[in-house]
This record gives sequence, C-alpha cells and structure tokens, in this order.
Amino acid sequence: MAVIVQKYGGTSVGSLERIQNVARRIAKTFDQGNNVVVILSAMSGVTDNLIHMAEKITEFPDKRELDVLLATGEQTTVALMAITLKSMGYKAVSLLGYQAEILTDSKSTKARILDIKATRIMELIKEKTIVIVAGFQGADEKGDITTLGRGGSDTSAVAVAAAIKADSCEIYTDVDGVYTADPNICKRARKLKYVNYEEMLEMASLGAKVLQIRSVEFGMKYNVPIHVRTSFNEEEGTMVVNDDVNMEQLVVSGVTHNKNQARITLRKVPDRPGIASKILSPIAEAGLIVDMIIQNTRQGNMTDLTFTVEKKDYKPALEIAKKTGKEINAEEVVGDENIAKVSVVGVGMRSHYGVAAKMFETLAAENINILLISTSEIRISCIIDEKYTELAVQALHTAFGLDNI
Ligand code: ASP
Ligand code: MG
Repeated sequence: MAVIVQKYGGTSVGSLERIQNVARRIAKTFDQGNNVVVILSAMSGVTDNLIHMAEKITEFPDKRELDVLLATGEQTTVALMAITLKSMGYKAVSLLGYQAEILTDSKSTKARILDIKATRIMELIKEKTIVIVAGFQGADEKGDITTLGRGGSDTSAVAVAAAIKADSCEIYTDVDGVYTADPNICKRARKLKYVNYEEMLEMASLGAKVLQIRSVEFGMKYNVPIHVRTSFNEEEGTMVVNDDVNMEQLVVSGVTHNKNQARITLRKVPDRPGIASKILSPIAEAGLIVDMIIQNTRQGNMTDLTFTVEKKDYKPALEIAKKTGKEINAEEVVGDENIAKVSVVGVGMRSHYGVAAKMFETLAAENINILLISTSEIRISCIIDEKYTELAVQALHTAFGLDNI
C-alpha cells in the first residue's frame, strides 16, 4: 500500500465547508487503497490575526509565548479535520507537532527541524488510521512548543514525508502549480509540469511564494518529489523533482520579478582596502539584508558603491549609509525605491551559453535600461526601473520561448 502525504494550506481549510471538502478528498485517497498522512495549516488569516493580537498588547511579544499562541491555529484545524473524518466513519487521529515527535532547535518563531521520530505515525498507519498532523509546529528538547517560520507547514509536510519514506508528497495550495511567470502580469504564463529543486529554490528566493524555501531544501536533501497542486479541482499541478527527471528541456524555465527592492549608492568614495566592509558592516550589524552589491571604479582612486535591500529596509539602510558616507567623505549618498528585479532561471543554463547576452538584448530592444546585474549558475537577475517590470517579464517570456511550451 502506498503512503501518501497530503498538505493542505490555509485557503483549503479556510472554512468548515472547505474542511469537509478536503475531508472527502482525503477519504477518497484512502478508499483508493492508500495510507494517508495529512499535514494542515491554520485556517487562512488565523496566524496573522493571532500575531496582531499579541502585537496589540506589546510591540515585541515574547517569542516563546508567541509560538504557544501561533500553534493554536493548526491545533484547531487538525482537530476539526479529525472530527469530520470520524463523523464520516473513518478511523482518524490528530497529532500536534510534539506528538508526531517533530524535534526542533529552540529558535522560537523560526525553529529548524532536527529530527522526526515517526514511530507514532507509523504505528497509526499500520492500524489503517488516517493521521492528521499539525503543520508549522514542533517542540525542542525541553518539550517547549516551537514554530517553523511563516509558511512552515510546507516544511512539516516534506520533512514528515522524508521521515516515513512516503511514496509521494502533495502540497495543496492556493495556486494550481508553478508557472513560467506570474500569470497576473504575464498572460502567456504556462504551468510547468516539472521544475527542478534548484530552480524552485531560486524562484522561491526571488519571491515566487509557492513553497517555503526550507521545504524545497528538505525535498532536495532527501529526494522527496513534491507535487504542488490545488484542492479546488482534480488537475495535476507541478512536480518539483531532481535533475534526472528531465523534463521539458528548457534553457530557461521561468521569468520572475520582485518589486520589493530599493537601491542605495554612495558616490565618490575613496577606493582603498576595507571600504566595502566599512560601508556594509554597519548595515549587516543592524540586521538588514543586502542583496546585490556593485562597485564601479572612477578616475583618481574614487569609486561608486551601490547595493540593494528590500523596500522595508530602505529607510534604516539609507540612514546608516548616510552616516558612513559622512565618515568616509563620500560625495553624496542617494537612494531609489522605484526599482525592480527581473530574473531568468533555469538549470538548462549550465549547458547553454548566450543566455545573459539574450537577456540584455531583449531588454535593450524594449529600451529598458539595466541598472545592476547579478548571476548565479542557474540565474541571471537585472535591476531595472520599476515601471518597466511588466514589459520586461513579458518580453523575456517570449524571447526565451516560454509562450508556447
Ligand atoms: N499558518 C502558518 C502561516 O501562516 C504556517 C503555514 O500556513 O504554513 O505561516
Ligand atoms: Mg503557504
């Protein structure tokens, strides 16, 4: 008998009616002769509400207690699901994170899974019981409740699937798969049948919020194929798999964009050893994450240094940069919040050359100026003026042959 892990996100369990709908889906999978382990999120909006409540009391709620609070969201849905399945005549049991023996480190609100001793889950499977596990939560060695960071149920699901060596891991979410671009801005975006773990990691870090990044890392490490799909219809979604399953032979599998960017430039700073660290260390010490960095040399031992941050970090980063700028006699420190990052991603880039050239040509043909460039082995990103984002994504989508796959 196959063991199937199914994870349902907040939208899929957002009301009693939807919980009943999902219960029928679980029951059907079970009736087809499978063992089913279900991982659930909280009902949509619930985690946000709980955070807001705590923040109404105090700006920085104690993190240990926040985890106790947030874990209630998933506690509610697993109980309701088990009640529903039992009322339909099925054997079902709900388990909280610690009952499923999901051991994590002690970093409240962003804990990492260390180990899953799935003995209890395995025993229940043997008794032909449907197991409903609360996603997003675990417990540390002391037994304190922890949560895995926003979107953490995805990671719970893939980790449980790895621990019990499940035959498949289905993630039911509010999109029906992984697309070649955001369908909201690119009408010709296509659903991918397959995507590689590494591509998915790049896409997730670029802002395509389909799966929590850590769940993809887990999938890659333990080779768990992840099927991303929706609970609102029966259609197949996208399989996130490793390299050997190839796929559609694409050079570029996706074009992503991220408007949540800002850049800061320090003009005419002395070009001497230690200057980049002098500028960037205080930014890092303030906990602000720098994405791209570029340094251009001017004449006379002067240089311009530009870096990008997320929009929410723009103001504090600019303030720090201005202070450093004064200390090192920069001519001026300027910033720009109206920028966006567009990227092309694909493992096919490893065996094809000319991808960067094609990307630059395509943007040039649309008269879009490139402000910054960064690359990895399987990704090329350009920072452009925010107002050209849609145009850039559409043009790249066409140029890399993704309109008709
Ligand atoms: N309920 C949690 C959140 O909203 C975890 C999840 O849904 O994956 O982040
Ligand atoms: Mg999610």
